Amino acid sequence: MEIVSRRDFMKSVAVAGAVAASSSASDASGDARLQPVFLSTWPFGQAANEQAAKVFHSGGSLLDAVEKGINVVEDDPKVMSVGYGGLPNEDGVVELDAGIMDGTRHRAGSICNLHHIKNPISVARLVMEKTRHTTMAGEGAFLFALKMGFHAEQLLTPASLERWLKWKATPNHLTYWITPENHDTIGMVATDGNGHIVAGCSTSGLAWKIPGRVADSPLVGCGFYADDQAGGASATGDGDLMTNYCTSISIVRMMERGASPQEACNELLQHMAQTDSRNKESQSAVIAMNPRGEVGAASMNAQFRLQYALWRNGQSHLLLSEVLY
Ligand code: ASP
Repeated sequence: MEIVSRRDFMKSVAVAGAVAASSSASDASGDARLQPVFLSTWPFGQAANEQAAKVFHSGGSLLDAVEKGINVVEDDPKVMSVGYGGLPNEDGVVELDAGIMDGTRHRAGSICNLHHIKNPISVARLVMEKTRHTTMAGEGAFLFALKMGFHAEQLLTPASLERWLKWKATPNHLTYWITPENHDTIGMVATDGNGHIVAGCSTSGLAWKIPGRVADSPLVGCGFYADDQAGGASATGDGDLMTNYCTSISIVRMMERGASPQEACNELLQHMAQTDSRNKESQSAVIAMNPRGEVGAASMNAQFRLQYALWRNGQSHLLLSEVLY
């Protein structure tokens, strides 16, 4: 399924037909004991969840499941906001960000501004597993990936190159200075059914961004967070804005204090709107899961309504998040 822009997505009747529309994620809540649950952002999250479930049921760890699930979206050239085929930065270079966190160890790994390596979530995991660092960026991250055995490749596809050339050739073309264009992160939160939580995300960020831009996705506590004692969360949308609210850790701490995942998602977005009413117009959406496998998903407004994928009890669902404003 091609995910090009949110406007296209909102228009997509075909997709809407496939959606089991629900205004409340509580429909999707349940007792996850002994059952893994995978929750991901956007329709492409369905393929990610299905792969994650397959890996987990074949004996992989929850970290393996989240990494391999996200790899599916990174590898798909039709998804123009993640990995291979993601729309490039201002200079026409695909620049990727990703992060993953193990909620048992309170340990994360993340990668920013990675070029020429299509699976940043896997590189992020190796930062977590093989180094004592948490976040690596740019040239150093690229050299680290090569040392870990990854191969450099061209991540522009004919389709993404064409989009970039068209953007460059458009007089007074939109840049990130004006309106965020074409983004959508694959964020995933998962439990093994025994209270263990892993969260991760991967993105090419905003199309045409200024080279070197870092937003929420690779920042621990912003784009993703996992804590076995409280739950996990991930964010998608205008990362330049949402970084300022440390969305994922804020949601997780609310769940720790007793909020349900849905309440925590809603409260986070309400807080954003209370601090600045202009945020009601923003592209902001979040997902969350507690250690019991109950889930929540919320979007700031209907113009940017998150479709999220939920895998539970062997079944894959595509649902609509709650809308706050
Ligand atoms: N948050 C991502 C970023 O700003 C993009 C998205 O999730 O839509 O890079």
